[in-house]
Amino acid sequence: MPFFWEIALSDNRDDSLNPGPPFGETSGSTMPGTIPRAESRFQPVRDRYGWRLALVFGNHAPGGFCPSYTHERCFHCDIGAGEGAAFDLTTNRQRLAWFQEFYQPHLASVSHLVLYNSGSVLNPREMPSEMLEEIVTFARSLPAVRVISLDSREPYLRRETVGRILLPRRTGITIRPILGIESGDDRIRNEVLRKGMPRTAINRVFKDLSKLAAEFGPASIGLDVNVVIAGPGTTHTTAVVDAVMTARHALTAGVEHGVKVDLNLHPYYVGSRGSAHFPDHPRCSPATTVRAVAKIAELVRSMATDCSLFIGWNDEGHDRERQQGHREIEQARAAFDRFNHTNDTGVLNGLESTWG
Ligand code: SF4
Repeated sequence: MPFFWEIALSDNRDDSLNPGPPFGETSGSTMPGTIPRAESRFQPVRDRYGWRLALVFGNHAPGGFCPSYTHERCFHCDIGAGEGAAFDLTTNRQRLAWFQEFYQPHLASVSHLVLYNSGSVLNPREMPSEMLEEIVTFARSLPAVRVISLDSREPYLRRETVGRILLPRRTGITIRPILGIESGDDRIRNEVLRKGMPRTAINRVFKDLSKLAAEFGPASIGLDVNVVIAGPGTTHTTAVVDAVMTARHALTAGVEHGVKVDLNLHPYYVGSRGSAHFPDHPRCSPATTVRAVAKIAELVRSMATDCSLFIGWNDEGHDRERQQGHREIEQARAAFDRFNHTNDTGVLNGLESTWG
């Protein structure tokens, strides 16, 4: 599951699709609370697959909390706090309907749909199977969709769970669960961040996905791995090394198991939990982001593996240094967007010197 969401998108980007209806305009039949708050509504952006759209659904677990958040895991994450209340079938169906109306002008162009729910969409306690099925059916109905990513966590990334989504196959669509490994360093992941995600569990995910790739074909299944850049447990000196090592672990496991891995690269920012648990740990500097991304892109080239890289920097309203965050994003937005579309590190040239 994510620590950061998709890339944030404002309304006046030069590469976004034409804007849809103004936020908040609906048919009038939607219950309050089912409309996602502004910070978690995303404009379509481009990635290597084409137009990418992220949809954030509600979480059905008690209080709307991600269970890992409830159990004091993931010290870096505020997203697991959910939206202040548990969703049910009615409210999430209303949100689905709202999305369909709100994004209607864009839906025919969406190639990559990314599904979130402030936790794991593959955990039936957080997203009942029938709700997930309705959402995936909607996703599959999009005429241009090639990739559907589903944010999850390792206990729910199982052959049976993911296999159920693969069964009603439509040729040409890849299902890609998202796994927030964050750091390939076991100490950082499990002791510092308290992810509670042992290496054996990660290996088991790759094995299960490998079986699905054999059963349904390698083009049917993939894995999106979240990597935190310069998160707690790293230092100014080790941040880039840690991010590259994490990427290498994920890509190597993907090659070994015949599972295509894509990487979501997330610069660390300071949220509420982060500041409570790691009061002295700073946000990831933009220069570190660029260095890490460039090194990871180089790694991808050297491994000759087909991997899509995506820089996500949105904070969903959790960044405690918002003004600084916005300043940095404004300087980098155009270059990061071009990078996400092309994965060409040349578009990042010059950014690092801007920041020093
Ligand atoms: S699993 Fe952890 S990182 Fe993912 S949403 Fe839950 S608390 Fe956050």
